[in-house]
Amino acid sequence: MTDEKKSVLQEYKLEADNELRFEVETKGEKVYLTLKNGLAEIFGTELVKGKTYEFTGGSKVAVFTWHGCTLQVKGKTDVIYTARETPMVIYSNCHAALEEMRTESEIENKRGPTTMVVGPTDVGKSTLCKILLNYAVRMGRRPIYVDLDVGQGGISMPGTIGASVIERPASVDDGFSQEAPLVYHLGHKTPSGNILLYQKITEELAATVKERLEPNKKTRHSGVIINTCGWVKGDGYKQLLLAGKVFEVDVVLVLDQERLYNELVRDMPNYIKIVFLQKSGGVVELSKSVRSEARDQRIREYFYGTPKNQLYPHSYDLKWADVKLFRIGAPKLPASCLPHGMKPEDHRTKLVPLTPHSGISHHLAAVSFAEAEDDVICAHVAGFVCVSNVDEERQTITLLSPQPKPLPNAVLVLSDLQFMDSH
Ligand code: ATP
Repeated sequence: MTDEKKSVLQEYKLEADNELRFEVETKGEKVYLTLKNGLAEIFGTELVKGKTYEFTGGSKVAVFTWHGCTLQVKGKTDVIYTARETPMVIYSNCHAALEEMRTESEIENKRGPTTMVVGPTDVGKSTLCKILLNYAVRMGRRPIYVDLDVGQGGISMPGTIGASVIERPASVDDGFSQEAPLVYHLGHKTPSGNILLYQKITEELAATVKERLEPNKKTRHSGVIINTCGWVKGDGYKQLLLAGKVFEVDVVLVLDQERLYNELVRDMPNYIKIVFLQKSGGVVELSKSVRSEARDQRIREYFYGTPKNQLYPHSYDLKWADVKLFRIGAPKLPASCLPHGMKPEDHRTKLVPLTPHSGISHHLAAVSFAEAEDDVICAHVAGFVCVSNVDEERQTITLLSPQPKPLPNAVLVLSDLQFMDSH
């Protein structure tokens, strides 16, 4: 089919249990989708009949129907096809099993199921979490979504982990709405950037999620869905075991990799249900460059919003004297140089005060909630700013911030991640 032909308006009649998959690869391209007849959903979010949804470059979409539907697609897609084989029935069975556990938890007045989704990269972990969360809220539940995947920053910025109560299905264009998410800052795009810090903030996040579950009955019975990193070997695997322990998971859904499934069956306590699931044939592998572009896009959206929901960030100067700037992690010292009693790996969680310099320009910085310096490492964060300029003569820094002056707390923690603001 020529590009010309692909861009015309097309109608697709889907039979029950079929899925229309398409990709909008090229930047600047837009594809419009309308449900003409029947019922259909995108990753668990029901489509409204007659409403037109817009998808921009980079979108990879699957429109699934349980009972059959007619869809209209307008615009240039890179790939578009109907799949008859999908794992949606199995995913829906997982949801049904979790729902049973939620009902049981109500009867016995205990907490609902904590489920962790694991697997290598590009197997659809985030997508499965989204489907399970959407199905849960459509049943009137209020689950907590925990994202431990620092690469894309599903809850906040890339380089963070976090949790958020999900109150309504994800919007097809903008994802889940995030009201007051709980965010912890790693400042690296993979946990290996500072594995000890990653471990600490995972423990901290788990403790806070547990605290938040307690007072809210509805959320407590709805349970938690945890998304994890695709790093499943060596230290990455150890982090999965740690997450399983600190979040006290009840169910682990292992996507695609039997080896990982067998390792977890061997290493996790018997009372945890470990289930192997096939990945969907529709999941698209992302190249390194696409992944990095998606990360940049996520950061841009944090400041400027999405086409549907635009934001207007503020830019202002602060005197160096009015902010405390830190980095987490100091260079490693030989053991012989360490003070008595200090473990050699402690340098990774050392708080280092920084004087602004031109090298920090374009770096992101987390605005910490910490009141005392001792709390900075494990404190959750209010949000992010980007250091757009450092004036060494005037001793000021220019910040790009979603909020106007002043900062909610003048404690900034520098991130390894950068953002080139082209606006
Ligand atoms: P990572 O390891 O990077 O976190 P992941 O395992 O979480 O990846 P997803 O992000 O869920 O994988 O999926 C990768 C891409 O595939 C996403 O862009 C998603 O929209 C797309 N995708 C998932 N399922 C399908 C499907 N059934 N049809 C078409 N595209 C899909």
